[in-house]
Amino acid sequence: MNPAPAWQSLEAAPSLWSATAAPLRELPPLKGDTQADVAIIGAGYTGLSAAHHLAESGLAPIVLEANRPGWGASGRNGGVITAKFRVSFPAIAAAHGKPMARRMYDIAIEATDIVAELVSLYGIEAAQLTRSGQVKAAHNHETLAYAVKEAEWLRAELGDTTMSVLDAGQVREETGSSGFVGGVLNAGSGGIHPLNYLHGLAEGVVSRGIQVHAGTPALRLRRERDGVLIETPGGTVRAKQAIIATNSYSDLTPATRDYQSTLIPFRSAIIATEPLSPNLAASVMPTRRTYTETKRMMRWFRMVDDRVIFGGRGAFGKADSPAAFRALQKAMVGIFPQLADVPLAYRWSGLVAMTLDSVPHVGPVDDRVMVAMGYNGAGVAMSSLMGRYLAAFARGEQPDVGLLDAARMRRVPFYPLREPAVRMVAGWYQFLDAIGR
Ligand SMILES: Cc1cc2nc3c(=O)[nH]c(=O)nc-3n(C[C@H](O)[C@H](O)[C@H](O)COP(=O)(O)OP(=O)(O)OC[C@H]3O[C@@H](n4cnc5c(N)ncnc54)[C@H](O)[C@@H]3O)c2cc1C
Repeated sequence: MNPAPAWQSLEAAPSLWSATAAPLRELPPLKGDTQADVAIIGAGYTGLSAAHHLAESGLAPIVLEANRPGWGASGRNGGVITAKFRVSFPAIAAAHGKPMARRMYDIAIEATDIVAELVSLYGIEAAQLTRSGQVKAAHNHETLAYAVKEAEWLRAELGDTTMSVLDAGQVREETGSSGFVGGVLNAGSGGIHPLNYLHGLAEGVVSRGIQVHAGTPALRLRRERDGVLIETPGGTVRAKQAIIATNSYSDLTPATRDYQSTLIPFRSAIIATEPLSPNLAASVMPTRRTYTETKRMMRWFRMVDDRVIFGGRGAFGKADSPAAFRALQKAMVGIFPQLADVPLAYRWSGLVAMTLDSVPHVGPVDDRVMVAMGYNGAGVAMSSLMGRYLAAFARGEQPDVGLLDAARMRRVPFYPLREPAVRMVAGWYQFLDAIGR
């Protein structure tokens, strides 16, 4: 018997989000041959936001999703909304000048704002969007000094007013943990129920008449004289343009596989506890923001209702591993010893897409195909924004996307060696974290 095709063989483990999501209507697979202005491959935030913005521009999009909307990272992430890139704004200024840092900062702020706009426009109350801020909690004085310097630079050079420095006592009051030497509060950040946000977007675009087909992998994408032809198991789509919105799952079929070589997929894992007793719940993260550490192998945590959710590096390779979840639980109990006897209710993971220059990319790769991908683990807000820029490119405009320009996309050299390389770098980072450096 032939092995199952890639898009059928990967099943996502049940998550807190899938267990608590508002239902999404049935979206039948494409049957027969059809036409559209723009064919979008992938129904995560990137694809659905692109569909929304294209329709706003008067263009007719169609969305093809191999699994179901939200099956990828958009339905499995931590729901932390931050205005940042993996590379810091001072580092961008040092390498590319202050005007570029300013443009990237404005893009990051626009990204967090657009989530609120879409939630409000489509009435996605179930997304439980909060803008309660994020605490970056420092595990040593060196990383604290770095975080403070960055916050001061943002205030002095870009006029940022969202960051404030916290001492060790304030971080203890914020987190309920005495494991940190200080930190920085970013008041502009927030949290969301990621799958409800995704379902709300999908319901929104479908109810305005946009076709979204689940169970419809784009198997092949061919350039034709006047556009593209996309083959799926049940039919074809002819479109003037195509958008590749498949991010770290771009290797599911040959239609999008080529783009995977611009990404380094990295498994990110999340655990969620059983509901805490009221006393315990009051002792953990009492300010109910989102929280990150300054360690290289960054871990983050937040309360969702009365559960703790805690995320960080997952297993290497294609599948989850019990050892990676145990390591996360140990890290959680290290920060919150009071959770030692609290059982876990959910364990799940997904792939984040790292890029060589640590920023995502958006724009045309030729006269018919556009991409947006490579969110480096910070894509809830950014991928929502990329839909707006993709629609602008589709209209023939040239939005200023700063360093995110798709022309800057680079293939990962020695691509087949990326897994051992990631393993080696991650091992070294873990060692440095473990010895407190
Ligand atoms: C565990 C985890 C935690 C994260 N936490 C956060 C966080 O807290 N905050 C944050 O900002 N970011 C976070 N991220 C990153 C964020 O989730 C992603 O950057 C974002 O969801 C990317 O959205 P997307 O639409 O580009 O891709 P995805 O949501 O991955 O969607 C891609 C879709 O394309 C489909 N597809 C692939 N190939 C084909 C094909 N050939 N034909 C049709 N469909 C296809 C897939 O089935 C998939 O549904 C996290 C990611 C993970 C995995």
